Amino acid sequence: MATTEGEVAGISEEPLPLEVPLYPNLPFKSIVRTKRIYTYETMLQHLRSLANHYELLTVDIIGQSVEQRAIYLLKLGHGPKKILLDGSHHGSEWITSFVLLTMVEHYAHYYHTGQSFNGYDVRALLSEYTLYVVPMVNPDGVEIVASNGRSSANYEQLVEFNGGSRDFSRWKANARGVDLNRQYPTNWALAQSYGPPQPAWANYAGPGPLSEPEIIALNRLHESEGFVAHLTYHTVGNMVFYYYYQTGEQLERDRALAAAVANATGYSLRHSSGGIGGMARDHVVTTYQIPSLIMELGVNKLRPLPEFADMWERNCDVPLLVMTWLKKRGP
Ligand SMILES: [Zn+2]
Repeated sequence: MATTEGEVAGISEEPLPLEVPLYPNLPFKSIVRTKRIYTYETMLQHLRSLANHYELLTVDIIGQSVEQRAIYLLKLGHGPKKILLDGSHHGSEWITSFVLLTMVEHYAHYYHTGQSFNGYDVRALLSEYTLYVVPMVNPDGVEIVASNGRSSANYEQLVEFNGGSRDFSRWKANARGVDLNRQYPTNWALAQSYGPPQPAWANYAGPGPLSEPEIIALNRLHESEGFVAHLTYHTVGNMVFYYYYQTGEQLERDRALAAAVANATGYSLRHSSGGIGGMARDHVVTTYQIPSLIMELGVNKLRPLPEFADMWERNCDVPLLVMTWLKKRGP
């Protein structure tokens, strides 16, 4: 793990100046904090502390990455209706893992105290719903970014996949150069035709759908759990996408939910024309007919930490809003 200041060539996330409002109005002493890239090891430390601290939270492992890192699933709540949140399909988008862990900690805290959070009764909502959170779908990709490629035994091969560049700050793929958000079975061949024909830092769909262990694990989770909604976290754009060729009532529902989320976050609502296939959203909308929103957080792709406070303010209650919205709408 090479996240020490100065060690990470090219992309070092230097400690932020003190005036950057990283944690505005934080009402309790939190465990989940970072001033640097949110690495796999940092996440593990936070997971362990949170699991020790909050009885409500359970931690499972749903699979292993190519480089044998565990893919974690956190469960929060007692409700029969399940919602999945996932983050860091793309290595360079590690801030989404930090946002999701911050969310888990806040909801666990408010459940525990019984106080409301932003007007939401967290305890009541998490008695009807259970949040499933896979905060880091692509731990190898995050580590490649955090270590500038040195986390991998195949450094020279990664440089080749990276177009010859030794700057890995943009790296999105897993450790085999497969873009995990081009791996889902729905219209995979289309995703393949749009991407490069060989492993790369981004957009290579792999030798076949579900060829990568990370997405085999995610796909199995979708198959077995029967989620009622799905939020998949990426960067950047301050946008919400919801559409993948659904029609009729399904389209009306998904557009209305996405509009409510866009309204709450101040994000722009995107119809997402010309979906290229192979993405988690594409697969979930098509296969399970549940709402699946792509949350594109922030505006600065390569230096997201100074934006964390803004991301958090906008997104801190989105899953609670989704639960409330679904509940009002009825089955
Ligand atoms: Zn992404």
